[in-house]
Amino acid sequence: MAECKLSRRLFIARGLAAAAGSVFIAPGVYAELIAKGLYGKKELDITTLKKSFKGELFTPKDEGFNSAVYGELWNKLAVNPKRAPQLVAKVTNDDDVIAVIKFAKENQLKVAVRGGGHNWCAPSIRSSGVMIDLSNLTKVISIDPEKRIAVTEPIVSNRDMQAALNAKGLSYPTGHCPPVKMSGYLLSGGMAWNQGTWGPGVGSIEAIEMVTSDGELITASKDQNQDYFWAARGAGPGLFAVCLRYHLRLYPLPQYIAASVYYYPYDKIVEIAEWLGPLASALPSSVELSLFAVQAPADLAEKCIVNNGKVALVTGTVFADSEEQAKTALAPLNDCPLIAQCLQKTIAEKTDFEKLFDASGALWPGDLRCRVDALFSNAKLADLFKATKDHFQKLESPKTVLMFAIFTGKNVPAPLLDTAFSMSGKLYGGPWTMWDNESDDAKNQAWHEECMKLLTPLVVGHYVSETNTVGHPEYAKASYRAENWARLEQLRKKHDPHGVFFSYFDGLS
Ligand SMILES: Cc1cc2nc3c(=O)[nH]c(=O)nc-3n(C[C@H](O)[C@H](O)[C@H](O)COP(=O)(O)OP(=O)(O)OC[C@H]3O[C@@H](n4cnc5c(N)ncnc54)[C@H](O)[C@@H]3O)c2cc1C
Repeated sequence: MAECKLSRRLFIARGLAAAAGSVFIAPGVYAELIAKGLYGKKELDITTLKKSFKGELFTPKDEGFNSAVYGELWNKLAVNPKRAPQLVAKVTNDDDVIAVIKFAKENQLKVAVRGGGHNWCAPSIRSSGVMIDLSNLTKVISIDPEKRIAVTEPIVSNRDMQAALNAKGLSYPTGHCPPVKMSGYLLSGGMAWNQGTWGPGVGSIEAIEMVTSDGELITASKDQNQDYFWAARGAGPGLFAVCLRYHLRLYPLPQYIAASVYYYPYDKIVEIAEWLGPLASALPSSVELSLFAVQAPADLAEKCIVNNGKVALVTGTVFADSEEQAKTALAPLNDCPLIAQCLQKTIAEKTDFEKLFDASGALWPGDLRCRVDALFSNAKLADLFKATKDHFQKLESPKTVLMFAIFTGKNVPAPLLDTAFSMSGKLYGGPWTMWDNESDDAKNQAWHEECMKLLTPLVVGHYVSETNTVGHPEYAKASYRAENWARLEQLRKKHDPHGVFFSYFDGLS
């Protein structure tokens, strides 16, 4: 599992502060916040809160403040002390959460929630207010194989969740990348492994235990506190509650998972898309199908020089119950009219969740600077790649992934669930622009913005937890059907009338 390290910049800042014999103060944070009138006028008095609080509290004067705010962020571009809370509360139990919410309300502070810190644009960091950090809540509480129900705390990774369930012959529609936590994933919609059969992550939540803006611990399910249950399954970074335990409906672990992988010359990507797009509906929905534009792996690099090192990658993963079923399901991928030009292939190789996570983890590694916008589209797959082909080929950064998953089977786009999550399409994907160095920020961000311009006419909506709702707050609204957005905003007014929780839009500058 990728572990986040303190950035070099933070180490240097700490070193300087220690050398000066002072407590650690983040100069950038202070300058900005003092200018906004948040510090200096009145310091937060946390004496009473401290008495009952079992976890850790950090104000900007504390040694661990910067690390608490920025240390666990997946996206290193988001480690940017332009926004910072006035207080970080690392909770350890329900009472801590309740106490912080009440403290925030009394002091007219707004609350943001930090799960695993994996949201690409870091909406958990707002200007001022309190950040409730859930990182101590790491337990899978129970797995009941008979009832097929698991109860988990939020900070359990996709990999750890599958490992715990797979050991008992069970599974859940988790996300694709190993370190991402259930916490925010389950509130987003949940673009899941085996989504064609199991549905998105939110579709299999039975209940959520959460603390409301009044500091009340409630359980939300289809039978109780239905407004919260509807909203929590999709509101993502705009939810007005803190979720502490998820009750999940489980599925039998598919007996035979297999994957096919084909690399083709990049200049053929549009032809590949013309064949693959229409093929998707003929494949069973147990096949997860994707077309990627990526940098060629080292062993194909020479063959791809002509295309600036880029390659087209087709992947098909099937969640089947026998070898025969798996091979039959994936066989049509071998009938590509361009198969003679395939640079490398692996056909229906048996795999498991561990290996699937390794493969995803290699495509989306940690410790990078990233801009991400994931989108739904009903356009032709070929049109998405026609629009972006030259733009991607010009790209210098070798770590960027442009990917579209093509939903398979007949039931596409999937029927809407009775959840806030309400975006659907025939295709899901977009640019995951990723690079190493700060000196390359400007050109990669410009490349990403241009890529979005090229794709925008072809999209029906965004995915709230993999799109830049901080830099482009309008993408939050674009992640919902109009009626779902309206209901979400009504419910926020009804259940958080004093605005205790940050909405999608406030505290972003
Ligand atoms: C490498 C990578 C791969 C990814 N792959 C997928 C994928 O396959 N499918 C998919 O659907 N998504 C994927 N995502 C997106 C990811 O699921 C979401 O961004 C999710 O929000 C991350 O969860 P988190 O707890 O780390 O969020 P954080 O960044 O900690 O939180 C984001 C926001 O969510 C809200 N939130 C989080 N937890 C809680 C809680 N317990 N209670 C109340 N509010 C909360 C808060 O408003 C918070 O500001 C991926 C992200 C990364 C970095």
